[in-house]
Amino acid sequence: MAEIRLENVSKSFGSVSVIKDISLTVEAGELVVFLGPSGSGKSTLLRMIAGLETIDSGSLTIGDVRSETLSPGQRNVAMVFQNYALYPHMSVRDNMAFGLQNIGLPTAEIEARVLTAARMLEMEHLLSRKPAQLSGGQRQRVAIGRAIVKEPKAFLFDEPLSNLDAALRVRTRVELAQLHQRMKATMIYVTHDQTEAMTLADRIVVLNQCKIEQIGTPMEVYLKPASRFVAGFIGSPG
Ligand code: ADP
Ligand code: MG
Repeated sequence: MAEIRLENVSKSFGSVSVIKDISLTVEAGELVVFLGPSGSGKSTLLRMIAGLETIDSGSLTIGDVRSETLSPGQRNVAMVFQNYALYPHMSVRDNMAFGLQNIGLPTAEIEARVLTAARMLEMEHLLSRKPAQLSGGQRQRVAIGRAIVKEPKAFLFDEPLSNLDAALRVRTRVELAQLHQRMKATMIYVTHDQTEAMTLADRIVVLNQCKIEQIGTPMEVYLKPASRFVAGFIGSPG
């Protein structure tokens, strides 16, 4: 069953149309990449799924619930931001626990989830540090950990590696792929980077000028680009 379904979704900011009649599904356990150049509407689309932007028309279903009117907290999806958005005055442990305290989970359950996530991300030894005492890659892992502890229906990543240097970008990308395999989690991953898309995606949604150019597996979009734009952007000879 589709975990996330968008049907004929459109949105404008003022008189500028930024999402034009988009329909797509993300299956449970699938990693779907939204790939497109800057300004193609990737972040807006992701933020609509997260509930951080409203939808002008069309429908959004998460699980089997019509979600366009639900608040971000009611959607049970977890967004991992480009700039990490960690609380500087809180320890890693408290940064990860914060969202769970808000929804009133028992302390023992919170502590157990934080420990499980920290083990998964190999950062148990960092739990009492503050964000300023972490490297960029470690901060990114805390941001991912904060999403994991929510046990969400889906993870939403917006260019999560763009602030990391090249070597760390590759390493974190591999770790994310392993995490996806281990958790069998539903993930949407936004990037403008073709290599990230080709190596991570089960399916790629290619966006250009706020419309879908093509949806397919990495091999399909590479070998059978649906348009000149896709051919040029993916960089295949066809
Ligand atoms: P991407 O993430 O692919 O770079 P965005 O979704 O951020 O693209 O933006 C798509 C278009 O929507 C861009 O033209 C951008 O300028 C515009 N846009 C995004 N957010 C806003 C906003 N809050 N107000 C007005 N225009 C916006
Ligand atoms: Mg963006």
